[in-house]
Parts: sequence; structure tokens; C-alpha cells
Amino acid sequence: MEKLSNKEKMKIPRQPMPEQDPLKRNTNFSEVNLGFTPELAQKEAMRCLECKTQHCIEGCPVRVQIRDFITLVAVGDFLGAARKIKEDNLLPAICGRVCPQEEQCEIVCVTGKKGDPVAIGRLERFVADYERVNVGFVKQELKPSNGRKVAIIGSGPAGLSCAGDLIQMGYEVTVFEALHELGGVLIYGIPEFRLPKDIVKYEIDNLAKMGVEFITNSVIGRTDTIDELLSNGYDAVFVATGAGLPYFMDIPGENLIGVYSANEFLTRVNLMKAYRFPEFDSPIINVKNKNVAVIGGGNTAMDAVRTAKRLGAKNSYIIYRRSEKEMPARIEEVHHAKEEGVIFKILEAPTEYIGDENGWLKAAKIIKMELGEPDASGRRRPVPLKGSEYYLDIDVTVVAIGNGSNPLISQTTPDLNVNKWGNILADESGATSKEGVFAGGDIVTGGATVILAMGAGRNAAKTIDEYLKKKYEPQTEPVN
Ligand SMILES: Cc1cc2nc3c(=O)[nH]c(=O)nc-3n(C[C@H](O)[C@H](O)[C@H](O)COP(=O)(O)OP(=O)(O)OC[C@H]3O[C@@H](n4cnc5c(N)ncnc54)[C@H](O)[C@@H]3O)c2cc1C
Ligand code: SF4
Repeated sequence: MEKLSNKEKMKIPRQPMPEQDPLKRNTNFSEVNLGFTPELAQKEAMRCLECKTQHCIEGCPVRVQIRDFITLVAVGDFLGAARKIKEDNLLPAICGRVCPQEEQCEIVCVTGKKGDPVAIGRLERFVADYERVNVGFVKQELKPSNGRKVAIIGSGPAGLSCAGDLIQMGYEVTVFEALHELGGVLIYGIPEFRLPKDIVKYEIDNLAKMGVEFITNSVIGRTDTIDELLSNGYDAVFVATGAGLPYFMDIPGENLIGVYSANEFLTRVNLMKAYRFPEFDSPIINVKNKNVAVIGGGNTAMDAVRTAKRLGAKNSYIIYRRSEKEMPARIEEVHHAKEEGVIFKILEAPTEYIGDENGWLKAAKIIKMELGEPDASGRRRPVPLKGSEYYLDIDVTVVAIGNGSNPLISQTTPDLNVNKWGNILADESGATSKEGVFAGGDIVTGGATVILAMGAGRNAAKTIDEYLKKKYEPQTEPVN
């Protein structure tokens, strides 16, 4: 293939992602983005300037070798590109779909200075899908078993990536998961239309084929404590239990029927398949032709409101107390939600829910806001506008204002230090206050991102390896 000059490369426009039509997709749960074709992928890859100083890598929390994999895509070596990505990221099909690339690798891509950045995430997704469809499971090289056992608590991205690295290093790895399905938020939180569950299951199956043992329906802190795991043969424990405890606003009426946390709403739809009603008779209020209000402006809020739309809601509202600029959700999700007909009520917040005589939600009292000075988060603080209250008819509300950590592990492990929000205190390497116990992902940082959780899992795997080598391998004296 002829080599293009940088000037010629800069003239190639960023290739659009093929998508389902908005008015069709808001009635189904199939994936919204359809993925690049090989032709689109190669054309997009040709936009990469193959920089000597790779700013894109600096933006990636797990330091995927972005330039090198894109160069392979440009010449049509898609499997070589997949191998290159997997040197640093075991779950590219997932990250290519849900990572906020616009704030990470793409924001620092040099082509973005004068035009649009290279679509790094879309290329990552293409390469991972190409390998899965055309080759299937590629067994990673495993070191022979060293006989040491590690328990991982939680099967979200932090737990899975830690398990993937440790099994390759020769450890015997068991993942304990409280739910009956594996995958953490990837399975119970992020909906099918953004991240097909088959893809998550495929990645987990691959880990099982590599030898990771998974035990579901096992709530550590109830079935066994961390101390019991350590005295029952596990040499180290990695805690990756996420941030699954939903916050509420503590306003009147939150106990009415029809008020859900986003976790509960999404779990019922994703895990219990409420979207395949009546085939699956899931215990969720039927929102068909009803008014649904989702409170919040993050990815969780967008997932909940777009889910409600797909379940047939007449009006699905986002109610967010700051302006759109401050919304933490990915730009793509906000854009997709609007295209699908979600109504955005910006600079507004509920102050009370009103129910009928049977305890069912029927309206919310909403107050309007204006933006004041920046608060501790750096975003401008919402200030209520006196006298601006009004009533909005709603049948269901989904509260998506954030999550905290479940206290079960800390309550049953007294020598594990936590901060005032209940997050486990761990340093960058994943080490905690308790010997042999490591932690990472949302349980340490609070609600963050998939890639940060994965990075934490990988760091912890390295630290656990160093810890166990130091503890069990004979230290040789220098010979002089
Ligand atoms: C709806 C939603 C949408 C999101 N969208 C995005 C997105 O688009 N992009 C992005 O990057 N991030 C997104 N996030 C955030 C991202 O999913 C999380 O940051 C990430 O999943 C954290 O990974 P984790 O492994 O730390 O925890 P989790 O994924 O929460 O997994 C923790 C697991 O531990 C299990 N567990 C908890 N306690 C115990 C126990 N005592 N014993 C055994 N198992 C236990 C839980 O059941 C769970 O399966 C989203 C989050 C939500 C909720
Ligand atoms: S910064 Fe952008 S153009 Fe440069 S190597 Fe990375 S992806 Fe390619």
C-alpha cells in the first residue's frame, strides 16, 4: 500500500460509526453502534500520524500500544493488531465499547489539534470483534502452576483483569461472586444496547478456559470471611467488590412504590431480562406508556433513561441539577439519548415525591436551579431558585446520583482500614492495611471507570506476585 504523507492523512475525515436508526433502536435492545467494516477500519487507521512521541499512550490508563496496533490495522493485519492490544489489555472488546476515549487517549491525540482525533476506541473494538468472530479463543501463554492460591472477591473488570494476569503467572485463581452471574457492572449495569452480554460472557469463558475458577452466589463476608479464606489455603486475597450501594437524595416520598435506585432498575432489566417481557416475567413495574424520570447526569442515568424508553415509556426525562456542560456522562451517550427522544430537564432537581392513596408514585415536585461558584468537584454548584417549584406527573422515577461501597467486607474484616465513605484504603500498588489483602477498582476509588478498574486489577496482580515471591521463594544470598 502506498505510504501517505501526514498532509494527506490529515485530509481523511474521521470515519463515522455505523449505527441503528434512532427511532428504530429506541424500541429494541440490540446494540446501537454496529462497528466498523474492515474497509472503514483501515481508512480510519490511515489517519494515524504514527507519532514518535505517542501522546495517545499517555492518555490510556493501561498504556495500550496504540500507534503500533493502529499501524497494523492500516496494513490489514487485524489479528496482529489484536495481539498487540492484548499485551496490555485483556478486554479490548469491552473497553472499545465503554471507555471514555474522548477524555483519555483521543483527547491527547495530535490529529485532534487541527481536526478530529483518530477514532482509537472504535478501532480497538473493531480489532477485538474481528479476532473473536474469525479466530475465537486464543490461548495465552501460561506459566506452569506454582501451587500458590489467590482468592478474588468480585467479578467486575477489576477482578477479571487481576484473575487474567495471575493465571498467566502460574497462580491458582478463584473468583468469588455474590450474584448468580459473573461480570459485575458489565453484566448487571451497562445495558445490552451498549455492551452485548455475549461479549462479556465470551471474555469470562476465555478466563475459565485458561483455568480461572469462578464461584457464583458466594457473598464473602457471609459465606466466608476474608480471614477464613486466608486460613483455608488462600495465600492472598484481592478485594474488587465495586461500589454497588446506591445513594438516595433523602427527600420526602422516596419510599413510594415506583421509586427505584438505578442499580435495582438496571439489574432487574439486565439480569432478569425485563426487556424480554412477557417471555421473562420480570418483577419490574411495567413502564409502557408511563412517564419515567431519571435523576442524575452520569452514564448510569443515561443507561436507565434509554432503558425506560426502550421499555415503552411515553415520556422519559433526565432531571439534572447542573447544566449539560457539567454532565459526567459520556458525550456519545448524551447524544444518543437525545436522538432517541429522551427529554432533558437541565438545572432542575426533585424536592419531593407525591403518591396516591395506595402509595404509588404519581408526581414529583421539581425546583429549578442556577449555577453558582465551583464546588469541591470543580464543577459549578447548583443553587435553587426560590419560588420556581412546579409539579411533574411521573409514574416511575429512577435515582441515579451515585453509589457508595457495601460495608459487608469492612464490617467482617476489622483490621482492613477504610475511609469515611467506606472505601478500602489501598495504595497505588493495591496494598491495604492488612497483610496478604489487596484491593482495587471502585471499592477503593468510589464509582469510576471500567479501564481504571482494570488497571487497578493489573497493578494488584503484579503486587500480589511480588508479595508471594518474597514471602515463599527462598531469598538467595549474594555470592562474593
Ligand atoms: C449503569 C452503569 C454504567 C456505567 N457505564 C460506564 C461506561 O460507559 N464506561 C466506563 O468506563 N464505566 C462505566 N461505569 C462504571 C464502571 O462500570 C465501574 O467503574 C466498574 O465496573 C468498576 O469495576 P469493579 O470491578 O471495581 O466493580 P464492579 O463492576 O462493580 O464489580 C464488583 C463485583 O463484586 C461483587 N461483589 C460485591 N460484594 C461482594 C461480596 N461481598 N462477595 C462477592 N462478590 C461481591 C458484585 O456483585 C460485582 O459483581 C458504569 C457504571 C454503571 C453502574
Ligand atoms: S497521538 Fe494520534 S496520531 Fe499520534 S500515534 Fe497516537 S493515535 Fe496516532
